[in-house]
This record gives sequence, C-alpha cells and structure tokens, in this order.
Amino acid sequence: MSVLNELFEVLSKDLHFNVSKLDSKNYDQNWKVPEGFISIIGLENAKMPVFYYGITNSYEKKFEIKKIVSPKGQKQVFARTYFIFDRRDIIEKEKYVVANAFNGLLLLIKLDKKEFIGKAVNMLTKGYEEDEFIREVLDNIKEKNMFDNIDETIRFVANRDYNWLIGRIKYNMGLLEYSGQGYYLLPIKTNMQITSGIKISNGKIIIDLENSHLFKNFIVYVDSVNNKIIYNKERLCNKNPAILDIMSKIDDNTCPWCGSKLRIVRTKKGEFLGCTNYPNCLYRRFPKK
Ligand SMILES: [Zn+2]
Repeated sequence: MSVLNELFEVLSKDLHFNVSKLDSKNYDQNWKVPEGFISIIGLENAKMPVFYYGITNSYEKKFEIKKIVSPKGQKQVFARTYFIFDRRDIIEKEKYVVANAFNGLLLLIKLDKKEFIGKAVNMLTKGYEEDEFIREVLDNIKEKNMFDNIDETIRFVANRDYNWLIGRIKYNMGLLEYSGQGYYLLPIKTNMQITSGIKISNGKIIIDLENSHLFKNFIVYVDSVNNKIIYNKERLCNKNPAILDIMSKIDDNTCPWCGSKLRIVRTKKGEFLGCTNYPNCLYRRFPKK
C-alpha cells in the first residue's frame, strides 16, 4: 500500500479529517495536481475555520553515512537520511493549490525506525569492511563503550543516530511522549516563505532530518505505533495552547531510547548505566570522570 493510502486510512477514521485522492486522471488540468487532498474541520467544537491542503509524497529517500572530522581532529561517523522532492514538480502542484484557493501544499514523509536502523546497519557494516575512516571510528566506539564485538557496536551507532534525530524532532514539536514513527505533513511555505529548514539546491527541495527545527511547523503528525493523530493547533488556530511540561517527565532512571528502566551494569571492562531491555536496546551511559 502506498504511504498516502496508509495515511488516508488512518485520517479518515477521525471526525476532523476529510481526505480524498487527487490525480491527473480524475482532474484534467494543465498543471500537475497534488497526490492527495485533506481538509481539517471542526477543530475546537467546530468553532474554528476549515483548512484545505494539497498533499504530495513523491520523494526520493536517501540514506548516508556522514564522515566528520571535528575541529579537534576527532573522527566521527553519523547515519543520516534525506527526503528529496523535485522542485519543478512542486511548483506545478503549487499552481493547482493556488488556483483552487487551498491553504497550501503539504509534504508527506514517513519515518520508520526499522527501515532506518536496517539501512544504517548495512551501510556501517559495508563501511567497516571497505572504508578505513569508518573502521577506525567504529573500533574506537567499540573500545570506549565496552562492546565485545563489532556487530553490536554497529547496532549501537545506528540506534544512537536514530534516537538523536527523532529526539530532536519530537522536542521541537513538543511531542516527547510519542514514538516519532509515522507520518509527518509539513508545509512547504510558512508566512509566504519557504519553511525555514527546508533546503533548496539544484532543483531539489530537501528535508534533512538534522534540520529538526523545521518540524516545529508540522501541520499533522500521525504516530503509527500508537495510532494517534496530532494536529498543530498552534498553527491552525493561531492560539497558544498550554505548553506541555515535557521536560519534567524525563527522569534519570528511564532509558531515553526505549523508556525502560536503567540499571548499573558491572563488567570486567568496567561499570556503566545500561538499559534493562538489553539486548533489544543497546543504550548505555557512562559516569563523567
Ligand atoms: Zn532502552
């Protein structure tokens, strides 16, 4: 099933959403129509206006291992992912959006933990065999974090990077209690400007998860793990909702990657704070020396 159909199946269960598929076959126009259409209605007991958006999800997804040398000369590797939209395609779809007086065009992306971890593990495993830089960094991480083998080290790095990216996105959206997996509908424009954080280069419109502040402007987020729909009332209603006191929910004994409890692990190599969900979760933290 396509990402769009999956999303529509979830959204149409909610009273606030009206979703329909748009495509060139049904809508004979001389410009490209978006892939989907959504209206958000009845916010706050139907006192709020209705919003109409076009949706597109024709992107190319890229995964990459970024190699960085810090100013101090320390080598590092990071697993990253990008969603790349074609700019000309977007401009054509925006014409349709403007001509039909929509509120805007939304970019639909899907984040999936299993996919990210799988790709990262594959790229790091290949990198360990073929790339001296990556091998050196991974061997250092293995040593420093007291892992016994390189496979576990690679899974650790993949999980570290996934959680870093998702953690920052959730923080910027004020949704730390959600999984971060699922569908994000992001506006291409905010206040008539390209949404800050969306990169344009060589005819491409790029969503780089590292630019997590662009997620502050999300319109709809669907948590695919908990099947929950969250819309950005702050943006849609132009009101300030009570800001969740999310930071107070984080305590020192909880694993920031999976929510299980942490415990002190003593090994021949030394002591660290590890996750009770090991080996499913490889989170570990070391006391500052
Ligand atoms: Zn954990």
